Amino acid sequence: MSDEKFDIPFKSPTLPAVLSLDSRLKFNCHKGISCFNACCKKSDITLVPYDVLRLKKHLGMTSEEFLNAHTVPYPMDQDQVPGLKMKTDETGACLFLDPENGCTIYENRPTVCRYYPLAVLNIREKDSSEPRTQYSLVVEEHCKGHEEDREITVEEYRKEQGCDEFDFYNQEWYELILKKKSAGPGVGKPSEMSLQLFFMASYNTDMFRRFVLSDKFRASYDIPEETYEQIKKDDVALLQFGYKLMRQALFGEKIIPEKPGAWEKRVEERREIWEARTQAEIEARNKKVEEQMREES
Ligand code: SF4
Ligand code: SF4
Repeated sequence: MSDEKFDIPFKSPTLPAVLSLDSRLKFNCHKGISCFNACCKKSDITLVPYDVLRLKKHLGMTSEEFLNAHTVPYPMDQDQVPGLKMKTDETGACLFLDPENGCTIYENRPTVCRYYPLAVLNIREKDSSEPRTQYSLVVEEHCKGHEEDREITVEEYRKEQGCDEFDFYNQEWYELILKKKSAGPGVGKPSEMSLQLFFMASYNTDMFRRFVLSDKFRASYDIPEETYEQIKKDDVALLQFGYKLMRQALFGEKIIPEKPGAWEKRVEERREIWEARTQAEIEARNKKVEEQMREES
């Protein structure tokens, strides 16, 4: 029995059967099919970090521009860990859909679109530290691909759709989410700062790059100069660095070494802010009491 699972969500009905890489499915999708574009007219696309990298690059946008124009955030769990969905138009159609020619970003389409009609489930078995991936079939009435005369294994289908590269660069992120779910309330609700870091490192890579290359960050972490150089020019290296920093922020794992005394320095800096804040609160309270006394006398 599985302990915890994380799936790239579909709102669609999935067949209960669990599929493995060797399982066969009867499916084909092509431009001449009667339902062409039907799935993209009612789209519910969850984005994962490598999707965002590929799309912003394809569109020649900064990550901030892409997030504003094409995405809507949503809470992935009760702790408000931020997820991301693609914006649709008012009818629910994907903004990248061309009624004549289909997907206009096909080469860089998101993971969920590649896998359809498969749903992916990342599972961690009880007493196992290694997550495992399973699949199930999504069957929707409007999708006529299931009536096509072609049989293919899950493994072949993944290869055909170019899922490997996407899974490779997202895998550590899936594991992070799974770990957060498996840990349950034991790890406590992430602080507001950890959630902001999670959003920035997962989706807003341009802002995350500025953050990592800032003097303040460099003063706190003991990272070789080559790593900074790589992060400066390579989005994927930045993403992978972000996965490590998120594990540090969410689970306290000491992966990225901190500079000696950096923590104490941060506490000292915060102390000044806390003291100033407390002082301001005391002054505001005193002012209120004085006003009340004046009104009553
Ligand atoms: S990104 Fe492309 S494949 Fe995915 S829903 Fe939009 S149009 Fe369809
Ligand atoms: S066969 Fe299914 S996936 Fe392909 S266009 Fe039709 S509804 Fe979409």
